[in-house]
Amino acid sequence: MYQDIVEFIRGRFGATGDERVMLHHPTFAGNEKKYLEECIDTTFVSSVGAFVDRFERDMERYTGAAKAVVCVSGTNALHMAMMLAGVERDDEVLTQALTFIATCNAISYIGAHPVFIDVDLDTMGLSPRAVERWLEENAELKDGNCRNRKTGRRVKACVPMHTFGHPVHLDELMEVCRKWNIELVEDAAESIGSLYKGRHTGTFGKVGAISFNGNKTITAGGGGMLLFQDKELGEYAKHLTTQAKVPHRWAFIHDHIGYNYRMPNINAALGCAQLEQIDGFIDSKRATAEAYARYFVSEPHGIKFMKEPEDTRSNYWLNAILMPDRESQQEFLEYTNDHGVMTRPVWELMNRLPMFEAAQNDGLANSRWLADRIVNLPSGVILS
Ligand SMILES: *Cc1c(COP(=O)(O)O)cnc(C)c1O
Repeated sequence: MYQDIVEFIRGRFGATGDERVMLHHPTFAGNEKKYLEECIDTTFVSSVGAFVDRFERDMERYTGAAKAVVCVSGTNALHMAMMLAGVERDDEVLTQALTFIATCNAISYIGAHPVFIDVDLDTMGLSPRAVERWLEENAELKDGNCRNRKTGRRVKACVPMHTFGHPVHLDELMEVCRKWNIELVEDAAESIGSLYKGRHTGTFGKVGAISFNGNKTITAGGGGMLLFQDKELGEYAKHLTTQAKVPHRWAFIHDHIGYNYRMPNINAALGCAQLEQIDGFIDSKRATAEAYARYFVSEPHGIKFMKEPEDTRSNYWLNAILMPDRESQQEFLEYTNDHGVMTRPVWELMNRLPMFEAAQNDGLANSRWLADRIVNLPSGVILS
């Protein structure tokens, strides 16, 4: 019944016969092998080496961040980001229920508590108005700290996630955070190359975290990156992620509980080669998004295509459509996956998972509405 759509997608990605069209696949078309070989030849494949430094400098140039610091995954970049934002045990952190589990895991590693606030329908990301409404109803400013009046806990940070690469309404969110003295931490894991009013996502908050997992726009095999506007804080992050070792020619002195969160040089080599190709990757993803937008303009089967929000440039990491209801969403998933086109629903809402069932939430009307309708479509890079 969705044969027309299946044919359109298979045609777009040039799939023939038994070939399945994947949601996303890494593309290696540049200096990957060259840099990996170079890395192996130097024997510096582990936690020190030239590619680590280069990847950080290249990311600073690409994103405009004052400082970029590599991590071994996006998840531990988020863990580090929470710590650097000053989140402590028993604090509360405002975030989305409509996100990937890693956002909430990072909050939990510290012993802090997520509070789930609704998303906007146009961005699918944290809603500044919903955050403000929740704060007005539940919080107060006391001695400069934002406190939850019911639990008595400090509300320390707010973590928006740029869903599928679409930036949230950052200006409005920054304004609410400023007013309530809450730190902004961006989960920019999915939004490398996505801009809000011309500026790279992940560079608006105190800290931003990017992921280089194999399913993201560019990959380092695995890995993450912390982005900072505050160079000094970034340097401190570097220190903490490298066992907090005090530089010395031979002595092993450490001045803090540190972490071994540094991306190995061999992963950074892959990352450098991938970053060189990112403009072409994003051009391809945006061309596919445009083709989807045109295809769905008349809303066949009542399906709407999710476009980038106003004032933004999305990397369109994963294209998303909205089905008319949950029933058609399930039918569409079944039909497309049975007919050689991989599609996926959005993540189960965090408040529905056993670990976070008891967490506070604001009703999450938009999140629940979207969860019943979102389907991700194939979005891999097409090499010309
Ligand atoms: C991928 C992703 C992460 C985690 O990144 P890893 O590198 O896989 O640890 C975090 N948050 C979101 C929203 C993601 O999509």
